[in-house]
Amino acid sequence: MFLDLATLHFASATSRCAYVIVFLVMALSQRGQIFLWHWMGAMAASMAGSFIMMGVPPETLPSVPVTMVIYWLYGASLVLSWTGFRSFFGRPVKIGLGAFLAVLPAVLYPIVLATGLSTRFALAAVFANCSAVAALTSYESFRRMPGVARLWSQYIEAVAFGAYALILLLSIGMLLGTDRPIASAESARASLILDQVAGVFVYFGYVAMTAERANRRLVRIAETDPLTELYNRRGLAEALHQRFADRDGYPSAGLLIADIDHFKVINDAHGHEGGDRILMAFAKRMCSAFRGTDLVARWGGEEFLVVLPGATQRELAAVAERLRASVAEEPFSLRTGALAVTISIGITTMDPNDNDFEQAVQRADAALYAAKSGGRNRVCSAPAAALPDGVPKNDVQEDGVQTRCDDAAFA
Ligand code: GH3
Ligand code: MG
Ligand code: MG
Repeated sequence: MFLDLATLHFASATSRCAYVIVFLVMALSQRGQIFLWHWMGAMAASMAGSFIMMGVPPETLPSVPVTMVIYWLYGASLVLSWTGFRSFFGRPVKIGLGAFLAVLPAVLYPIVLATGLSTRFALAAVFANCSAVAALTSYESFRRMPGVARLWSQYIEAVAFGAYALILLLSIGMLLGTDRPIASAESARASLILDQVAGVFVYFGYVAMTAERANRRLVRIAETDPLTELYNRRGLAEALHQRFADRDGYPSAGLLIADIDHFKVINDAHGHEGGDRILMAFAKRMCSAFRGTDLVARWGGEEFLVVLPGATQRELAAVAERLRASVAEEPFSLRTGALAVTISIGITTMDPNDNDFEQAVQRADAALYAAKSGGRNRVCSAPAAALPDGVPKNDVQEDGVQTRCDDAAFA
């Protein structure tokens, strides 16, 4: 296979123009995403470098000023990739350090020449500098945000910039360890091909990272209740599916529905905003009452549902009672002062044969209804699989579920 230099230069320049246009449109349409401007700048700088290189005959070295401009552009391209990752992950962008690193390759070249060392050493110094920035960029692209799972596309960027760093190190080895000519059609061809391949990974990686994170955010928004940041119904269904998808049915689990008593009165007395504050504070208390493996969801207005995988009836009853007592004993603070709140709770358990989640919810709901009619501020339980087999769900009346309401039993 023979790829002539003119074709390679043409492909490199046109593809870079296309990348710049695509990123310009992305950056203009998503104004708040500053990292897109960094990455577009990186592409524009490397595109400008490529255009200048097109005018340099393959067997000759450009003049020192032209070389300085080319390495300044490549340095700037690498640095803007690095600052783009910092901006993408919400890390502070170090402008002073970035400007220094961008200019360094351009000034290193004449400085090394001025010391009397050969062009090979001057180029080696520039490559070492660019390799270090590429390694830094690889590290920056791969660093994990605390508490956030790494994006799959981060791996693409880390490998691409890591490869850049390695290729530059290999080039240093060739420059200092062999007597191959510095400028030749062969080396120009090799570097253009490598640059094209790496460019595809880097630039498509940027798009993949942007899309992957946006998609994750959308899924999160769709599955989260905005007020309490707990799962909403869709989120709970998805979490249950993910947790238990590889099983035939649900594992043995406890199921709890908690409902704030007389919440309408709270709203009427303290306004909708006061009611919202109670909901948020209650959600926090819910989270601290359960294990990390339990799934806590806002099921409806002031109704919360929790699935406790592996919990027995006794454990479930104890947890529910602790939650009830913690709410009843510690008033919630509102701007107007402390407010005593109580909750009613319905509980039931599911065993592995009982794989109809909706029936279990109906049982817990019926137990909750019993807690309400029994006077509120109490925990009631419905026995597991109390509904006889074969009874269509819609025909089941709450009254048909035997519930047990006995505060003392849970104390
Ligand atoms: P019970 O003790 O029988 O549960 O009585 P309740 O007043 O708590 O129940 P009801 O179903 O009569 O009223 C629930 C209220 O919750 C009515 C609704 O306006 C309010 N609500 C639902 N969602 C929200 C919300 O997001 N914020 C606020 N502030 N109120 C909400
Ligand atoms: Mg209520
Ligand atoms: Mg309710």
